[in-house]
Amino acid sequence: MIYLQGDFKVDDTTKKHLIIGAGFVGLGMAQALKAANIAYDQVDASDDIGGNWYHGVYETAHIISSRKVTQFTHFPMPDNYPDFPSAQNMRDYLNAFANHFNLREFIELNRAVSYVRPVENNLWEVTFSNGQQKIYKGVLLCNGHHWCKHFPKLKGEFNGEIIHSKDYKHPDQLRGKRVLVIGGGNSACDLAAEAARVGAKCVLSMRESVWFIPKSFAGFPVADLIKWWMPQWFQRLITYGIIRLTFGTHDNYGLAKPNYRVFDKHPTLNNEVPYYIKHGRIKPKPAVHKLDGCFVEFIDGSREAFDLIVCATGYNVVYPFLSPELQRVELAVVKCYGGSFLEDYKGLYYIGWGQARGGVGSLISAFSPFFIRCLKLQDEINVPLGLVFKEMGEQLPKTHLADPQQIFRQLKLTNFFFNQIVKRAYQVNTQYSNFSNSPLPCLSRATSTPFLP
Ligand SMILES: Cc1cc2nc3c(=O)[nH]c(=O)nc-3n(C[C@H](O)[C@H](O)[C@H](O)COP(=O)(O)OP(=O)(O)OC[C@H]3O[C@@H](n4cnc5c(N)ncnc54)[C@H](O)[C@@H]3O)c2cc1C
Repeated sequence: MIYLQGDFKVDDTTKKHLIIGAGFVGLGMAQALKAANIAYDQVDASDDIGGNWYHGVYETAHIISSRKVTQFTHFPMPDNYPDFPSAQNMRDYLNAFANHFNLREFIELNRAVSYVRPVENNLWEVTFSNGQQKIYKGVLLCNGHHWCKHFPKLKGEFNGEIIHSKDYKHPDQLRGKRVLVIGGGNSACDLAAEAARVGAKCVLSMRESVWFIPKSFAGFPVADLIKWWMPQWFQRLITYGIIRLTFGTHDNYGLAKPNYRVFDKHPTLNNEVPYYIKHGRIKPKPAVHKLDGCFVEFIDGSREAFDLIVCATGYNVVYPFLSPELQRVELAVVKCYGGSFLEDYKGLYYIGWGQARGGVGSLISAFSPFFIRCLKLQDEINVPLGLVFKEMGEQLPKTHLADPQQIFRQLKLTNFFFNQIVKRAYQVNTQYSNFSNSPLPCLSRATSTPFLP
């Protein structure tokens, strides 16, 4: 039975869900649970809400997706926001969202989860970093996927400083320095452009050539030009046209043509790198071969001296507080059904781990009503919903990349035919009537200090 929060304060945590994380995704899910009157607690390891936009990004960051696709559909950003709001705008927006929906009273800050494991009676034991333990009915994992730094393996020794893009907070860190940025993604390009402005020199080392997509075209954010009804091949066609009309060809910049199709990798939306290449402020180079004192040698045999290397080489998707049996991540893909659900455990939900190329808010706004229906259905059946989806023929995801338009279409369709899922869920429930979560032992690291974002 779903316990209601609106009618009374639920003290018994075994009747509640726990949301780990009060970033963009955690806040969106909390609002959805609250609106559906589903009892929950929410915790965040940090001293304020907002996640990445509070403690993760550099001061000068602006969103890459547009305001329109990044806002929660049901809570638009203020009219005076630009098309590409700043990190500060994003923080203010998330705070306004939390205030508007009265989410704060259920959020506990400075509360890090160090371990989560299934125990008897299909319940979940949560251990916090202070050693305290609570038993919950279910856990929503909204801990984000932009904090566990991925570093490249570099041969040799470097005399200067090496940081990850996550450690970059302010242009002063680049000012007057000879900077090498490694990577071809959005952070790499933002940082290279920053170094081009304030550094003594900037080299951008890319393992392979990438498609630079302009952030806006003909006065509109490119993300807003893509509509829900457009199949991926059509989006691709439009995007190639936009790239060609804005930048020309890679040849114009001394770069090789990428050897993959646009959208086969997470897109790099950036106008500034092509601009600064044209001004000689960014020098593109191939992959690093080795480090040698203050020099870096590239695979084309060239060598340059640097003071600072910034590795904008991405993040690992990790759940450090889960039992090894529940670590279902392969590369960046969480092997779960329906975006969140396991086939062999109920009550554990992996949320927001994918890398859709749209904005996070519109996706959570579309996903959360579906998730709430699933949560209510899960309450009526004994088998995990993941098993129901599997029995309905759904395959485990093979990639973390996603076309948001396809997700919107799928969710619309699934919501429309949800009674089919309900029907099938009851059938599967009869088939596996003895199902119960297998409890897992408590590991010693459960009470050790967890990662702090
Ligand atoms: C430079 C940069 C630019 C970006 N630009 C865009 C953009 O343009 N558009 C877009 O949609 N997205 C963008 N993103 C992605 C961004 O991560 C999402 O917008 C959003 O922040 C994801 O929200 P989240 O809640 O999943 O994760 P986060 O914002 O990372 O929040 C997760 C929260 O969980 C908490 N937490 C983690 N572990 C624990 C634990 N063990 N116990 C308790 N709490 C815990 C953390 O403290 C954090 O507050 C960008 C990311 C970066 C790095």
